[in-house]
Amino acid sequence: MAGLLSISEPDATQPTDASTQPDTTNSDFLANLATDATQTDSKVATAYSREEIAQLFDLPLMDLLLQAQTIHRKHFTANEVQISTLLSIKTGNCPEDCGYCSQSGHHRDTTKLQAEKRIEVDKVIAAAKRAKNSGSSRFCMGAAWKHPSAKDMPYVVELIKEVKALGLETCMTLGMLDTNQATQLADAGLDYYNHNLDTSRSYYEQVVSTRSYDERLDTIENVRNSGINVCSGNIVGMGESRDDRIDWVLELLKMPKAPESIPVNLLVPIAGTPIGDKVLAEGQLSVLEWIRTIAVARICCPTSYVRLSAGRESLSDSEQALAFMAGANSFFYGDKLLTTGNASQSGDDRLMRELGLTKQFAAPRAPKVLPVMDAMSGHQTQVVLAD
Ligand code: SF4
Repeated sequence: MAGLLSISEPDATQPTDASTQPDTTNSDFLANLATDATQTDSKVATAYSREEIAQLFDLPLMDLLLQAQTIHRKHFTANEVQISTLLSIKTGNCPEDCGYCSQSGHHRDTTKLQAEKRIEVDKVIAAAKRAKNSGSSRFCMGAAWKHPSAKDMPYVVELIKEVKALGLETCMTLGMLDTNQATQLADAGLDYYNHNLDTSRSYYEQVVSTRSYDERLDTIENVRNSGINVCSGNIVGMGESRDDRIDWVLELLKMPKAPESIPVNLLVPIAGTPIGDKVLAEGQLSVLEWIRTIAVARICCPTSYVRLSAGRESLSDSEQALAFMAGANSFFYGDKLLTTGNASQSGDDRLMRELGLTKQFAAPRAPKVLPVMDAMSGHQTQVVLAD
């Protein structure tokens, strides 16, 4: 388009006058990244060092956004976003003590959150139909459990099958999973399982004491090995340092494969939770640091969906636009995220129109196990499909 600067033109990515740049931009790594975004293709397999991740965080913001958007466009359709709807299928009284979460039973005396039992299947399906009609391609279901119990498994398996039958992708977040449970969910056709690392290994003990970092990684490994896509992200603004955010990115890169979906949450401080009270008293993290975190995740995990999740409802249109510029290409629709508020759907539709964003269609994967009739015996049996 005449008169418009193409983001792929070499001139658009030439470093500016070196004398005006911080020292960090003099490194070979950043010089190569700035002049040749294709370098990141080789980095997909080799990952970034801790020093390189730190250098990305230190870039002037516009340089960082330019690199992130350039890399984003190499791996995804520009201006297309994936949209999910999240429903809490069992709310509150969770035995874990996550310091930011209103659903923890450890904080119920101060948050006063009303716990609810499991939602009936037909109500979940009705919500999934509404989500599909409003344009979501994925329906995410969350339960405030340490892990699903044996009696919960048939319930969640039924939900997966029923929601997939609507043509939606499915995602669940149910706490820890052992290998057997992950296999059951994979066999039912679950598309994504969410299990966030939340933060760095070293800051983790300030956030949760009832579940270890290694237990989180074990669940993610079980999900990965079962064939379900991994959704794993963080929460920024819990009082962690930039070093912790760098270490969190490094943890993603240590995995055999980066998560297919990476939610980058901005803490919604909830009064009555230990971390919420602390942040409300001491002040919240700059939104620009959250946007930097999104951009670094996009550069380091170029083929992953980077999702805007909690925290969006408090942001201006311009701040959200910057987040999309930073390479985010997924977000949650709906007025509520489990128990915290979310940006309104009509507001999202208006913002998408103004930004020229379009919705990505669903592509649910087939269940691994299909029920079939044995022609000889007439009995119901199962076939296992290859991935
Ligand atoms: S974040 Fe999840 S695991 Fe932690 S307390 Fe809340 S519902 Fe429970």
